[in-house]
Amino acid sequence: MALSGVRRVYGSGEGEVAALDGVTLTFAAGTFTAIMGPSGSGKSTLLQCAAGLDRVDAGRVDLAGTDPAALSETALTRLRRERIGFVFQAFNLMPSLTARQNVELPLRLARRRPAPDQVARVLADVGLAERAGHLPSQLSGGQQQRVAIARALVTRPQVLFADEPTGALDSRTSREVLSLLRGLVDEHGQTIVMVTHDPVAASYADKVVFLADGQLVDELARPTAEDVATHMTTLETTAQHGVPSC
Ligand code: ADP
Ligand code: MG
Repeated sequence: MALSGVRRVYGSGEGEVAALDGVTLTFAAGTFTAIMGPSGSGKSTLLQCAAGLDRVDAGRVDLAGTDPAALSETALTRLRRERIGFVFQAFNLMPSLTARQNVELPLRLARRRPAPDQVARVLADVGLAERAGHLPSQLSGGQQQRVAIARALVTRPQVLFADEPTGALDSRTSREVLSLLRGLVDEHGQTIVMVTHDPVAASYADKVVFLADGQLVDELARPTAEDVATHMTTLETTAQHGVPSC
């Protein structure tokens, strides 16, 4: 999993914005990386480009051993469906389907018949074995996010991408979800890339990378929440005062 010299530009002419401006980054297999940076620094764009959900204007992406830019639409759709998992802040569960049916959905879309215990096992992995028959509306926010994580994991993706997965959760529930993600890395060797603005959330990762104005500006290994918070304060102060990054 890597990006090399990735550039992503939105708009054109005077209104042109380089959301990513030459990003080179590797996500080692079996590790948990957090991406942080001020609002508008390009975090979501980085995640979307890394996951093959958005195209790049220059540079290369290596996603599960392939360059998404070199794939046909059909092949890219299959890659997204079968090789990566994506979790959003807003859960995005189908309200009329039970937890089990939501988790089965990616397999159905891929026309794969679930093995008898495949869905049950992934629901058990996220601690929801007892809630398989519940609708999203019958579950707490933390439980709904765990269903979304189970849904993202059911195809055994090489990488799990998460954009602010705890952004809609209270701090206790956030910790449950973050411990779950940490456990997936430690116990199953899952590779996880997570965008967050919360230093406590970032401290669950092995490494934090910091973006500012579409560029990587720093990284921290084995981060503590305090170190991350200090880095963020520095970045935000620099952004506010418009100190040029030459
Ligand atoms: P972050 O997730 O760090 O808040 P984004 O990746 O969403 O940042 O956005 C980075 C920059 O690119 C911002 O200036 C944003 O306004 C711009 N941008 C993002 N997506 C689009 C889009 N679809 N069209 C135009 N501009 C966009
Ligand atoms: Mg964002």
